[in-house]
Amino acid sequence: MQIMLLSSGLAEYSAKVSSGDIEFPIPDNCPNPDCGAHHSFQGHGWYHRFACNFFDRLWQLISIRRYLCKSCGKTISFLPSFLMPRFHFSICAIIWSLLFGFTRNKSFGSLHRFHKKRLLSKIQVLIMSLRESGWSADVSCKCPIKKAISVLLGCYAGPGIEAFASKHFDKQQKALLAL
Ligand SMILES: [Zn+2]
Repeated sequence: MQIMLLSSGLAEYSAKVSSGDIEFPIPDNCPNPDCGAHHSFQGHGWYHRFACNFFDRLWQLISIRRYLCKSCGKTISFLPSFLMPRFHFSICAIIWSLLFGFTRNKSFGSLHRFHKKRLLSKIQVLIMSLRESGWSADVSCKCPIKKAISVLLGCYAGPGIEAFASKHFDKQQKALLAL
């Protein structure tokens, strides 16, 4: 089970984890539908994964906090909102690779191709999510690429991509671009 932790970016998250200046909002009740135990979580260490911010191409090993439900034995991990489950590239890097591919005909190879398919298949879900956040851009255009560009730019509008990704995850129980 994963909880998305609102985090503004890779560098800030790493600095906060290193200094211990970070809080994890543990749920009152276990989110496992077969469990639901009250105040049942205890610390369960950290796991480590690589993350990459596209702009500086800095691959960094980051620590992800885990808790264990003492009742059902399931773990919850706190995924920072600049990442998507199972992907090393930050959400910001993925969005920019898509935008560059669409607007400058400059492809970033498999990263662009892979996420382009996912984006186009999820475009209506993203539009709905953006609308709920108050986004009002016109997306009546028939061209799927122009529509996709508008949606990608919309992800940056308002409080920013990490905040939007976190809100989207809470509502949909899926990361941005996750199928
Ligand atoms: Zn449980």
